[in-house]
Amino acid sequence: MFPLIASACLCGIACRYNAVSVPFPELEALHAEGLVIPVCPEVLGGLSVPRSPCERRGELVLSREGEDVTEAFFLGAERTLALAREKGITMAVLKDQSPSCGSRFIYDGSFSGKILPGRGVTAALLLANGFTVYTEETFLG
Ligand code: SF4
Repeated sequence: MFPLIASACLCGIACRYNAVSVPFPELEALHAEGLVIPVCPEVLGGLSVPRSPCERRGELVLSREGEDVTEAFFLGAERTLALAREKGITMAVLKDQSPSCGSRFIYDGSFSGKILPGRGVTAALLLANGFTVYTEETFLG
């Protein structure tokens, strides 16, 4: 099972669009023990902290202002996959509802707060490559 990769924001790293984290104590503890490799696909894709919130809309990812950030999101996903492969990792715990990390639900692209079943770009890529992906809710069962 270990090591695994995890959304950096769940490990207490303030990398979300609004420059905060969403710490998940169990992952923070595993990170402190060196058992978790934190990744933020959006930062790996070249986006800044803070940044505009983004949502998937079809095959695109758009910022709230309408900027097309699809390329950065896919680059971050590819870099996350490459990092995991380099470390021989096939398991991830990713923050649900994120346009990158969500594996069960994502926002619907209207920036109205509506959530739909769906996958973020990185979660979808990892799942397509045979990874086991947990959310912060499903990780501990
Ligand atoms: Fe957290 Fe993933 Fe969003 Fe980065 S891309 S802030 S790791 S949910």
